[in-house]
Order: sequence, then C-alpha cells, then structure tokens
Amino acid sequence: MKFVLATRNSHKATELKRILEDLELECELLLVSDFPGAPEVEETETTFGGNALLKARALAKFTGLAAIADDSGICVDALNGDPGVLSARWSGATENVDQANLELVLEQISEVEEANRGAHFMCAAVAVFPDGTELVATGKMHGSLLRKPQGSNGFGYDPIFVPSGFSKTTAEMSSSEKDAISHRGMALNQLAHQISEVISKT
Ligand code: IMP
Repeated sequence: MKFVLATRNSHKATELKRILEDLELECELLLVSDFPGAPEVEETETTFGGNALLKARALAKFTGLAAIADDSGICVDALNGDPGVLSARWSGATENVDQANLELVLEQISEVEEANRGAHFMCAAVAVFPDGTELVATGKMHGSLLRKPQGSNGFGYDPIFVPSGFSKTTAEMSSSEKDAISHRGMALNQLAHQISEVISKT
C-alpha cells in the first residue's frame, strides 16, 4: 500500500520516514514533494490532532492515496502551554526560523528559575485513507529547558530540551536515541499498529 507523508518540513519528513521504516510497516512511503501542486494547508485548528487531520485529509483528497500527517510542538509550563500549536511560527521570522523561535522562548523564560523550566513536546500523528477511514495517535515527551542551546542534531527546539531522566538535550542524542523516547516516535509507533490492523482487514 502507498502512503504519502504530508509535511514540507525536511527535518520532520526525515524523522517520519525513518521512524515508519524502522517499524517495518509494509508500505511504500511517498513525500508531498512527489506531488507538484499539492495544496498548502493552513493550520487553523487549535489542537495538534485537528491540524494533523486538516493536512492529511487535504493530501488524501488531492492524491487519492492514504496520507499520513503529524502536527507537533512544544508546550512550556512557564508560558501556560505556549507556543503549542504555534511552535513552528512562534517568532514570526521568515529566515532562520528554528533559531529565531528557540531564541524567543529562551528570552520569554529568561527570568524563570530551574525548578520551573518544565516543558513537553506533543505530537499527533494521523492517517487518512481514501475511503474516509481516519486514525489518530498521540505522543508526549516531558523534560525541561536549558538557558543556552546544546548540540547540533535534530531540529527546532531540540538544542534546549533535556528529556526527563537524561542529562543531555535531544539535539545531543543520536536519531535512534531520540526516536525511542520522542513524542513523534511514540505517536507513530501507535499509528503504525493501527495502520497494520486496517491493512490486514483489506
Ligand atoms: P508543525 O508540526 O509543522 O506545526 O511544526 C512543529 C514545530 O514544533 C516544529 O517546527 C518545531 O519548531 C517544533 N517541534 C516539533 N517536534 C519537535 C522535535 O522533535 N524537536 C524540536 N522541535 C520540534
């Protein structure tokens, strides 16, 4: 069965592809870039699941194939859960976006002491099939935020995020270390099981 991944973020596409391939789901994975003219979907929902469904539904409709999408972000305790669904566009920057977003969060919590620098990543991963079947799975990774970036792997807020129980950031982890504990790894793992069940019934 063919699936198309609904993300234009190359870092996320790499992670999604890597995790799904590691799960040995019996499928061929295509990218949104394989479909010129595919619609750009505005993330207008207030939940991760809602936004992921918007993206997957639009791509399933455009391609006639099953689509997989995720929506994710970081929720910072001291910012009442922000940036949340706005994580990708928090600073409003159009260049060096990840760096600008991370710097803005660091500035916004610069006065917050260590004990209160908790945060978690959230991910909703969904699959939408051409017959209208929709599957939704979620994952969460708790941790805390440093004052300065550390590490150069990963993307987004990885250089300032230390997962609970670890003493390094997700940007200092190997891909496999991060996938084993990450919000995206967890959500896709669940989603892959749900997809396998759907496939086995067809
Ligand atoms: P979206 O899911 O395309 O709306 O983008 C989510 C945004 O949340 C990314 O651009 C990152 O800024 C942030 N984010 C989501 N997951 C991760 C992660 O695993 N590491 C670091 N940042 C992430």
